[in-house]
Amino acid sequence: MKLSELKIEQSGVIEEVGGEGALRQHFLDMGMTPGTEVTVSKFAPMGDPVELLVRGYTLTVRLSEAEKIKIRPTDKEPGSDPEKARQKSEIDHPGLGEEGRFHPKGSGNPLPAGTKLTFALVGNQNSGKTTLFNQLTGKSQHVGNFPGVTVDRKDGQIKGHPDTLVTDLPGIYSMSPYSSEEIVSRNFVLQDKPRAIINIVDATNIERNLYLTMQLLEMDVPLVLALNMMDELTANGGSIDLNRMERLLGVPVVAISAAKNFGVDELVDHAVHIAHYQERPLRQDFCGEDDNGGAVHRCIHGISHLIEDHARRAGLPLRFAASKVIEGDPLVLEQLELDGNERDMVEHILCQLETERGLDRSAAIADMRFRFIREVCRECVTKPRESKEKVRSERIDKVLTGKYTAIPTFILIMALVFWLTFNVIGAWLQGLMDMGITALAELTDRLLTTGNVNEAIHSLIIDGIFTGVGSVLSFLPIIVTLFFFLSLLEDSGYIARVAFVMDRLLRRIGLSGRSIVPLLIGFGCTVPAVMATRTLPSERDRKMTVLLTPFMSCSAKVPIYAFFVSAFFPGRGGLIMVGLYFFAILLGVLAAFLYKGVLFRGEAVPFVMELPNYRLPGAKNVLRLLWEKAGDFLRRAFTVILIAAVVIWFLQSFDPAFNLVRDSQRSILALIAGIFTPIMRPLGLGDWRICVSLICGFTAKESVVSTMELLFGGNVAGAMTALSAGTLLVFSLLYTPCVAAVAAIRRELGRRWSLAVVVWQCAVAWVAALAVRALFILLGA
Ligand code: GDP
Ligand code: MG
Repeated sequence: MKLSELKIEQSGVIEEVGGEGALRQHFLDMGMTPGTEVTVSKFAPMGDPVELLVRGYTLTVRLSEAEKIKIRPTDKEPGSDPEKARQKSEIDHPGLGEEGRFHPKGSGNPLPAGTKLTFALVGNQNSGKTTLFNQLTGKSQHVGNFPGVTVDRKDGQIKGHPDTLVTDLPGIYSMSPYSSEEIVSRNFVLQDKPRAIINIVDATNIERNLYLTMQLLEMDVPLVLALNMMDELTANGGSIDLNRMERLLGVPVVAISAAKNFGVDELVDHAVHIAHYQERPLRQDFCGEDDNGGAVHRCIHGISHLIEDHARRAGLPLRFAASKVIEGDPLVLEQLELDGNERDMVEHILCQLETERGLDRSAAIADMRFRFIREVCRECVTKPRESKEKVRSERIDKVLTGKYTAIPTFILIMALVFWLTFNVIGAWLQGLMDMGITALAELTDRLLTTGNVNEAIHSLIIDGIFTGVGSVLSFLPIIVTLFFFLSLLEDSGYIARVAFVMDRLLRRIGLSGRSIVPLLIGFGCTVPAVMATRTLPSERDRKMTVLLTPFMSCSAKVPIYAFFVSAFFPGRGGLIMVGLYFFAILLGVLAAFLYKGVLFRGEAVPFVMELPNYRLPGAKNVLRLLWEKAGDFLRRAFTVILIAAVVIWFLQSFDPAFNLVRDSQRSILALIAGIFTPIMRPLGLGDWRICVSLICGFTAKESVVSTMELLFGGNVAGAMTALSAGTLLVFSLLYTPCVAAVAAIRRELGRRWSLAVVVWQCAVAWVAALAVRALFILLGA
């Protein structure tokens, strides 16, 4: 029987995990090993994906992926394994240098004083990495990108330890190269060689989280285990025997709550200590000699000895290399450069393992790790009763992911966010900002006039810088407000549900459910939409989503629509506006098919995701995020956008002989527009004034209308026909996003892509406008 055939509340035991490559490995790494019990807890409202309960946490997978998993149905209640209740340890947790095992008193071989202690902060998604990172670093942090990929990278110094540097790595579930995040994290540990790893583990979901720990221990880098969310665990009657766990794992284990800031100081002490003395994990060997006849044990050790020299040459930790050879990891195999004979021997050993163990190689390794973890948990962990957070989450989920309520509530929530952003809070802040900028501009204007400053400089400052940067700066309040709501939704755990609910719809166009949010934000403003693609877990989805956002008509274009509709199509305004939006969406869908078929032919990233419990977002985290986003935007406003504004001002104010012009018809901009007029003539938009306005619209879409009014002397309605007005509407709907958006795209995808977007959108707009125009001429409108 297939996993996809189970109904709600039914359980089964996994017999075989089908599929291949990275996805299959990912399933195994998430704990879906043969012999594991899974229960279906619900389906998304559109019937796909499905949410499963595995090893005490919930996981969502698509039905097409669930089909590859064979199960044997059971009717046993899930999770009724009798777990031995344990007494909380009487012994206090050893301090630094006590116990003598992991932290001998300064006797080791310390790194020379003044060596920079670098730490990698590694853990599953939602284990509290960012929260801990913020606690550790306070304000001294730096945000950037990992080289080569657009995954956020944050570095910072631990408070009170000037010689340290912590890096917050992307959340990962294993060290297999499955997503770009996992590759980033893995390469960071392998190549950047941090002095120590701080492994953060969600204590309320310890079994799954320790799976990553087991692989980190294989890296042979000093490691301290931070058991996070201990507040939640203890509040629900759970406890963990830290001493015993330390002994079993061979690394220091510290109980912390990143959110409540307890245990963090102790964690820092341990981390600095093990890094300074380079105390590596005491144990990497978790394969039992008597686990199923020791097949896995003999296999790992056999292969370890076989590849010892290669691993040393490649600079890979031996145990890690051996595990990865068994899992068939292509990157490691390539680095090891085994010769043909050695490859054959490895293959023979693996075949022997598969025969003896009755499981394939990847499953056997995953099973061995989970078996050990089970043992550790049985000895050290008193499971909490079902937490009130979990109960609450389930209750909320009844509505937010319910069959009939999910989509209406989603629409309601998004509408509320948009309304609050664009009509209430954002608009109010924007008004304030506008007032401030205008006042400052007027003051400067007066100062420049009284100071008798050169006319050109005067114009540069007022018409160029203030108008250009000012118009972009007025986006800032909207962006900050939108991100405020977005981070509330993200932090609370709702975005993960949205992805779950909308996945089926978006998969049709080659994306996953997560892309819905950036796309929706695109209707407000393309800039935050592009910035919001950061939350997407795969590079491919991120690129494709960014390329689709220009098809979501942004709110800055509304003034254009409003103006032309009221001037040329009175009474049919609503219909035409709605028509324009849907037309753009339709083209976006077509474009998505095109992108999927041509640019991103690679396999779509499978959707295997965890639905975390709902949590109240931390105010500190949210504020910090806002601060980052605002800073990021401002930096851009004062670099790229400032330059663009100055260039446009220059072209607008000078003639080719560099004399200041009064009549803009003689400006360089009009001359450039002249180049475009022949191109625009087939659209009936061959007037240089229209071209100039469209070019000005590149700085901010609102300015299309104001420029036209100015150039046509306030008589646009008299100078154009309804047909060309309609064509212009379609063209402005689709042509290049504004400078601010292009700058955002450039930051996400690089210069080439951003240029391509500009050219491509103009081409799409031109063709679409021509088609619409031809259609109307044919219809005799
Ligand atoms: P990341 O994905 O690993 O960066 O995790 P975050 O730092 O974003 O945290 C995920 C969620 O867990 C957030 O809602 C935090 O407020 C919450 N959280 C983090 N640490 C703790 C903790 O110690 N106790 C509790 N109860 N919640 C926490
Ligand atoms: Mg985070």
